[in-house]
Amino acid sequence: MTPRLRAALDDIPVYRAGEALAGLTKLSSNENPFPPLPGVLDRAVAAAAEMHRYPDLSAAELIGELAKRLGVPEDHLAVGTGSVGVLQQIVQTVAQPGDEVVYPWRSFEAYPIVVRICGAATVAVPLAAGARLDLRALAAAVTDRTKLVLVCSPNNPTGPAVRREEFAAFLDAVPEDVLVVFDEAYVEFVRDDHAADGLDFLATHPNLCLLRTFSKAYGLAGLRVGYAVAHPTVAEAIRKCAVPFGVSSIAQHAAIESLRRQDAMRARVDAVVAQRRRVREALLRQGWAVPDTEANFVWLPTGVQTPAFAAECRRAGLLVRPFAAEGCRVTIGEPEDNDAFLETAGRWFDGRRRVAGTAGPA
Ligand SMILES: *Cc1c(COP(=O)(O)O)cnc(C)c1O
Repeated sequence: MTPRLRAALDDIPVYRAGEALAGLTKLSSNENPFPPLPGVLDRAVAAAAEMHRYPDLSAAELIGELAKRLGVPEDHLAVGTGSVGVLQQIVQTVAQPGDEVVYPWRSFEAYPIVVRICGAATVAVPLAAGARLDLRALAAAVTDRTKLVLVCSPNNPTGPAVRREEFAAFLDAVPEDVLVVFDEAYVEFVRDDHAADGLDFLATHPNLCLLRTFSKAYGLAGLRVGYAVAHPTVAEAIRKCAVPFGVSSIAQHAAIESLRRQDAMRARVDAVVAQRRRVREALLRQGWAVPDTEANFVWLPTGVQTPAFAAECRRAGLLVRPFAAEGCRVTIGEPEDNDAFLETAGRWFDGRRRVAGTAGPA
C-alpha cells in the first residue's frame, strides 16, 4: 500500500529542462550567454556570508528598486522563486478543481503543469498562422468557468510578440472578473514597435497581471527570482500564496544590483538581438520557414523530423530543444556557436531537399 495521492497528479506532464551535457554547447534553455552583470557576483558573494540568516521575507529593497524602475507603486508588486514560481502562486490565487485556465499551445511548457497541480482544467488554444498567438480564439475560449487566461509574449518556443492593437481588443473582449496573465519573460529583447508592452495596459485593466523575470535578460536563471506586477488586490493575493522566504538573500541582492546595471544589461541584450537578426536572416536565406522572433531564440518547424534534426545538432556539438513532431527551439548564443548552428541547419536543409525533392523539411 502506498498513500492515496491526488488523482489530478496522474496526468501532469513532467517539466523537461533543456539538456545540458559537458563539452556540448547549450542552446537549449534560453539562457543568457553572458556571465552575471558587473558587480553582481561580488554582491551575491557578500550576501552569501549571511546564509545562516533568513532572507528579508518581504524583499523590501528589491520591491522598492523595481517600483522605482517600473514607475508603479510598491503594492503592485510580488516577487517569487523565478517567474514560474510566481505563476504557480498566481494560479493558486484563482484556480481550483472545477475551474478552467485558458492558454495558447504550443507555448511555455510550465503552463499545463502549474494549472493541473491546482486541479483546474486546461483549455489549450492552437496557435494561428506564423506560429503567432490567436488572441481572438483565446478570448473566445473563455467560459463561465474560466478564471485565468495566460498570454505569452514573445511566445516561447515560437518567438512572435503580441501586437498592441490585438492585445487591446483581447482585453476588451475578456470579462473583467477573469484574470489575464501577460508573461513577458523576454520583454527586454523586444524590438518591434508594434509589440504590446504590458505596463501600458495596467492602469486601464485591473484584471491584468504582468509576469517578468531576472532569468533571461539579466542572466540570473540559476538564482530563481521573478516578479508580478498587478492591481494591489491581486498582488496581495499572490504574496499570500508564496512559500515563506522562497527568494534567497543572495537572489535578492543579485537582482537589486542587476537592476542598477541597466546600461550593461541593455548592451548585452542588444548584442543578442543583433545575433538573433543575423541568425534568422541566414536561416530564411537557407530556405527555412522561421517565424518572427522578438525573443532570444528561433523556432525551426522541423515537424516529424524534429528528433533527427536534434540528433544532427548534437553530432555537431550543439544542444537544442526539440518538441517532438513539431519543431526545435534554438537559443541565440555566442557568435561562433550561432555560426556552428547555422552551418548544421544549412547542411540539413540541403540534405532534406535532396532526399524529398521538395522545398525542404516539413
Ligand atoms: C524562461 C521563461 C520564464 C521564466 O522562468 P523563470 O522561472 O523566471 O526562470 C517564464 N515564462 C516564459 C515564457 C519563459 O520562457
